[in-house]
Amino acid sequence: MLEEMGLTPIWRLRESTVPAEQAPAAASAAVLEPRSTIHESPQPAAGQKPRITNHESRITDSSDRRATIMRMEWPGLKEAVASCVACPLHAKRNKTVFGVGDENADWLFVGEGPGADEDAQGEPFVGQAGRLLDNMLAAIRLQRGQNVYIANVVKCRPPGNRNPQPAEALSCEPYLHRQIDLIRPKLIIALGKVAAANLLASDASVASMRGKVHDYRGTPLIVTYHPAYLLRSLQDKAKAWADLCFAVKTMQGLQESKTAAS
Ligand code: SF4
Repeated sequence: MLEEMGLTPIWRLRESTVPAEQAPAAASAAVLEPRSTIHESPQPAAGQKPRITNHESRITDSSDRRATIMRMEWPGLKEAVASCVACPLHAKRNKTVFGVGDENADWLFVGEGPGADEDAQGEPFVGQAGRLLDNMLAAIRLQRGQNVYIANVVKCRPPGNRNPQPAEALSCEPYLHRQIDLIRPKLIIALGKVAAANLLASDASVASMRGKVHDYRGTPLIVTYHPAYLLRSLQDKAKAWADLCFAVKTMQGLQESKTAAS
């Protein structure tokens, strides 16, 4: 399958060059980036203006809706997305694309939004980029639906496969946040600039965010390239493979840290 995609030998899983006894340390030594948070700010003292962070300023316009969504369980959340008209993207969608996979997964992969195939089928990453993502998963011995969940920043297709606009991503943000809270993954992989920018509230490039363990509301997050980008940019496949190896090593470190603590 990997050979068919023209990815071998790049996508063959190699043994770690880090001795097993050093692997947890290697993972924990990874750079921890500033945390993206939607936690409430402390209440200001009397007479003081409330301090609003960049991220918080993006969510205050719909706090009631957000609070309602953040209390939902899986069935209510799925129903809410299926009937959502909160942003203009609802107008031209065929199907909402909620997300797919193991709802107790350790691994969460987040892309930007549905394309034409996803819009038709109601499932994320089902076209050519989806096949590449499946191959990327297989290369690190993962499989869609088995300890893996896949979701997008927006649940409806942006027309013409353009990037979701900030207001659209903001409207859809509570759904993804709630999915993450319900899944409680050990590690999030942000696929591409749009996913990374929205999850980390950062304008930095993918290149500058790679190779670090960021923090998303207490969950480690690693950034790599979107499979659709990799289909166009063959030269970056080796970098994406390095990112996946880094993610595997990070996950091993997380699991070993948890074992040691218990
Ligand atoms: Fe609702 Fe998200 Fe679809 Fe916009 S993209 S209509 S917020 S589900």
